[in-house]
Amino acid sequence: MLVRAPAARRRGLFAAASSITAVAILACGCSAPAPRAFAADRTLVDLSHEYSGETVFWPTADAFKLEKVADGVTEQGYYYAANNFATSEHGGTHLDAPVHFAKGHWSVEQIPLDRLVGDAIVVDVTATAASQADYRVLPADFTAWERTNGEIPAASIVLIRTGYSAFWPDAARYLGTSERGPAAVAKLHFPGLHQDAARWLAETRKVKAVGIDTASIDYGQSTLYETHRILYERDIPAFENLTNLDRVPARGAFIVALPMKIKGGTGAPLRAIAMLPPAR
Ligand SMILES: [Zn+2]
Repeated sequence: MLVRAPAARRRGLFAAASSITAVAILACGCSAPAPRAFAADRTLVDLSHEYSGETVFWPTADAFKLEKVADGVTEQGYYYAANNFATSEHGGTHLDAPVHFAKGHWSVEQIPLDRLVGDAIVVDVTATAASQADYRVLPADFTAWERTNGEIPAASIVLIRTGYSAFWPDAARYLGTSERGPAAVAKLHFPGLHQDAARWLAETRKVKAVGIDTASIDYGQSTLYETHRILYERDIPAFENLTNLDRVPARGAFIVALPMKIKGGTGAPLRAIAMLPPAR
């Protein structure tokens, strides 16, 4: 039940809140920050795949399921539709929370929002990854990027473009195998981030998050998941199975990557978007 305060009382509350704001402004001698309006000339790029029966999942993870509950005209004469869904955390475009590989670190709902939004850089290794399914992105790939674009700013969101999203949702090409079950894990072949580069990004460039357009931030043949462990022990979350990175420039885009807020989650479905820099 919704209880509404009487109008006079609501006005009183508003007046009180306004005067508190005024006092706060006077006390600090500053003015309220100007609201940042969304600029209509900024292009938005969707970095998330859809969830459906085609969504690619890790060979040992349960697939996404959508169950129809209602879809039709009710006895009362209005149309009504609703579904149930079920999914494992680590499939489709999703967030990895640090607790996924670092005991006691942030679960999904504990990650501060400012770790999930920010300025992005995109490192493009599509040419190398096209001929090397087991390629791991090296510190040299990032220093090459810096020779053209300048040093990666601290607190950047680093996005790695391997080109593998073009294979989605063909698991045989995207993952290296369409087989399911524990035995299929050894047959995974796709590029990832080398552990040396993960450490370099975390320690020398102080990045806030890392994203990739493959199924895992570690390459498919990884058995110890060193890159996951290095990043998550340092509270750097990762975004996996991103798409449309070909539409995001090397620098200048602003990323918003908001997961479903699963309490205690080690990962969660992620809706990620890029706001491109204004056209000049
Ligand atoms: Zn994951």
